[in-house]
Amino acid sequence: MTDCLFCKMAAGEIKPDVVYEDERLLGFRDIHPQAPLHVLIIPKRHVANLNDLEDSLLGGWMLQAAAKIAAQLGYAETGYRTVINCNDDGGQTVHHLHLHLLAGRPMTWPPG
Ligand code: 5GP
Ligand code: ZN
Repeated sequence: MTDCLFCKMAAGEIKPDVVYEDERLLGFRDIHPQAPLHVLIIPKRHVANLNDLEDSLLGGWMLQAAAKIAAQLGYAETGYRTVINCNDDGGQTVHHLHLHLLAGRPMTWPPG
């Protein structure tokens, strides 16, 4: 998608602070971190949101990547949170599917 911020990152046109990459996914630090570790994991191909995720394997790979990144950066044992916001009520502001990985502080529940 030409006008999509995260597609531009996946294509290398905009360079975020990358912590993970494989053939399908990119993981990079959020520009406004909500925890000491705040990474966004995106599919390289454009999927607007969770409603449009037809490839169930892709969802599994995104979750596995989150666990790998958390382990590599030392948060597997202390713990972490993964979040996917979908559309307006879910709080989605960038309309390219992304999984938030948050760690490094105790999380509260319920979320805001
Ligand atoms: P959403 O609210 O859609 O679930 O999450 C979008 C996330 O993208 C937000 O946490 C926001 O801080 C992050 N974000 C927006 N623009 C940029 C950017 O240019 N670079 C990076 N690294 N993150 C961004
Ligand atoms: Zn996109």
